[in-house]
Amino acid sequence: MITMTSKGLFCKAGNFYIDPMRAVDSAVITHAHSDHARRGSLQYYTAQRGVSLLKARLGKNISVRGYAYGEKFNLNNAQVSFHPAGHILGSSQVRIEIGKKVWVASGDYKRDPDPTCEPFEVVPCDVFITEATFGTPSYTWNKEVNLGKEIYDWWIQNADRGVNSVLFAYSLGKAQRILGVLEPYAQKDIYCHSAVTPLNECYREEGIKLARTQCLSQIDLSKQFSGELFLVPQSFLQTDQSKILGGQFETAFASGWMAKNNFESGYDRGFVMSDHADWNDLVRTVKETGARRVYVQHRGKGSLVRHLKSLGMEAFPAAELFSRNPDQLALF
Ligand SMILES: [Zn+2]
Ligand SMILES: [Zn+2]
Repeated sequence: MITMTSKGLFCKAGNFYIDPMRAVDSAVITHAHSDHARRGSLQYYTAQRGVSLLKARLGKNISVRGYAYGEKFNLNNAQVSFHPAGHILGSSQVRIEIGKKVWVASGDYKRDPDPTCEPFEVVPCDVFITEATFGTPSYTWNKEVNLGKEIYDWWIQNADRGVNSVLFAYSLGKAQRILGVLEPYAQKDIYCHSAVTPLNECYREEGIKLARTQCLSQIDLSKQFSGELFLVPQSFLQTDQSKILGGQFETAFASGWMAKNNFESGYDRGFVMSDHADWNDLVRTVKETGARRVYVQHRGKGSLVRHLKSLGMEAFPAAELFSRNPDQLALF
């Protein structure tokens, strides 16, 4: 049903690619991150809630069709639907049904709560292609933390000393999630980098509540700032704009990678805030789908494949989907 090609995952019956790595005729997109959504394809298909983000990333003039979550549509001989992945606004798993067989390609996903996107939905399937960004047992984290309060407390403790807080985060998804969890706490505007602010607007237009923000490109940079929170990409400190921080600032990074090497990273503070599933949630999700066969994409040196096999599942690295294995694929 799905094979791996040099352009990415390909569904022959539907004649479409999922998150193709190059321009193709028909691109089914799980979400707007740049390693999934690339320019140049003739026709894009994505979840309705992700359409404005996709346009913000790829250009207003792309040809894109948006579908409600769960809405079924046909691409040639395949029936396709999008289901929430809980990763960023509009992110989807792609469900493909041909005959009585169902495959699901997860895209990126997480199970942790996030006020800025729809929660992950378990989609029963025969074959599950899962991401595995944190596909190693050393990446697990506590789910019971209140990240909004933690970040707010750090900001306010710094502000009480007249110190600025510089929080590094990916511009799409993580930055808006931070603004979402801070929304109940923040008493004043948060300064966002110009890479972040247009994406904030896409979220607000979809009715997602974010803390109040100001765009750094629209303020007087000769002004002195103290006790403010800056939400910026990691390159910020190397830019002229960072002069507004004066000497008084602390840094933090919000990422799942902070579950490890907090010290070596060189940040003053790390917030373990991931938009990907941790090890426990990867394993749990694979089990919950009820899939008879699992293909694992991305990192992890094979830990997840080995672990799933030890649980008696048929598990393979996604590279096995290269059609050099037609016999195996023919089973499905
Ligand atoms: Zn992503
Ligand atoms: Zn990704």
